[in-house]
Amino acid sequence: MMREFKPDVEPFDLVVIGSGPAGEKAAAKAAYLGKRIALIERSRQSVGGVAVTRLGMVPTKTLRESALYLTGFRKREIYGVSVQLEPSAIHNQLSQRTDDVSGSMSQAVRENVARHQVELVAGTATLRPDRHVVFDSERVLEIGSTPASVVIVGGGAIGCEHASIFTALGVIGPPALASAAMEQGRIAVCDAFGVPGSEALDAIIPTGVYSIPEIAGVGLTEQEAAQQGIDYEIGRGRFSSNARGNISGATEGLVKLVFRRDDRTVIGAHILGEVASELIHIGQSAIYHRDTIEYFLDTTFNVPTYAEAYKDAAYDGLQRLAATSTSEALLR
Ligand SMILES: Cc1cc2nc3c(=O)[nH]c(=O)nc-3n(C[C@H](O)[C@H](O)[C@H](O)COP(=O)(O)OP(=O)(O)OC[C@H]3O[C@@H](n4cnc5c(N)ncnc54)[C@H](O)[C@@H]3O)c2cc1C
Repeated sequence: MMREFKPDVEPFDLVVIGSGPAGEKAAAKAAYLGKRIALIERSRQSVGGVAVTRLGMVPTKTLRESALYLTGFRKREIYGVSVQLEPSAIHNQLSQRTDDVSGSMSQAVRENVARHQVELVAGTATLRPDRHVVFDSERVLEIGSTPASVVIVGGGAIGCEHASIFTALGVIGPPALASAAMEQGRIAVCDAFGVPGSEALDAIIPTGVYSIPEIAGVGLTEQEAAQQGIDYEIGRGRFSSNARGNISGATEGLVKLVFRRDDRTVIGAHILGEVASELIHIGQSAIYHRDTIEYFLDTTFNVPTYAEAYKDAAYDGLQRLAATSTSEALLR
């Protein structure tokens, strides 16, 4: 059934199109601010966007976890055994598990929307043809007058070029991650309702690659620090000498810290190995709070944990600092 939103008579302060991570969080944030919100979703299968549909974030990570579990991958190294299942049985198990998790996450989005009293509307939203509010990169050049405000979607070369034409604007761009999309949604809502405090996207967004092993990073890499002319040092904490890594048979991997040599401020953290995408938030916190490597040296970590590798990395960094300072002194 066609449902037309009439801005003059509808009781909504904002109509959000799409229930993906950006739309869901934008709608919830606006509702939290006391606004009346409608959220329109065209997918007949589920709400939650690419993140929860069969081809997106949650299903691909579920497949990965299930495959690791069903093949006994994590245990193979220590017990010398792996599970052998019929290929068709594995396929069915993976498919069922993926559907279950996608369904649960879609339901979680539905519940969040309901909890915030956002009206969820099933259907495809269209903008009235007489209202030219969305322009592609060619048609935007045909605008007869300068609009009061502009949002440029896409921070690639063309988007950035248009950004230099319209000066007061927002540019929504990379990284193309659900994590960033959620924050972009919240920021867009704050901006729309003039709520101060969160004008820009967090500058230190972590990345996580769910390969085997996992890879995660936040802040500057060594190369970026060098390019910026920063006098830096690194420290490595390896899972091969980490108790939890050895207990779990996950000895491949490491935590690498990048920090300034002058004041030891942490400027980057990079992890390869088990639960890297979880562990990275410790480094993120240290960078956000402008901590030095002393944070890792002076605080007590649970043992055995993979997180302990941060402490080892800090000690390694300290030793490297001492070694290079000594050789520099000898050269003087
Ligand atoms: C295979 C894969 C793996 C990924 N893995 C990760 C990961 O590990 N971590 C991570 O952070 N990100 C990951 N991403 C990226 C992440 O899924 C996206 O960045 C995120 O979903 C973008 O959110 P969004 O809300 O902007 O858009 P989407 O998730 O695309 O949601 C848009 C929604 O709007 C609806 N819609 C569109 N047009 C209309 C309309 N006219 N009317 C009504 N409804 C409409 C769509 O049906 C959809 O539900 C992955 C993506 C893929 C494809």
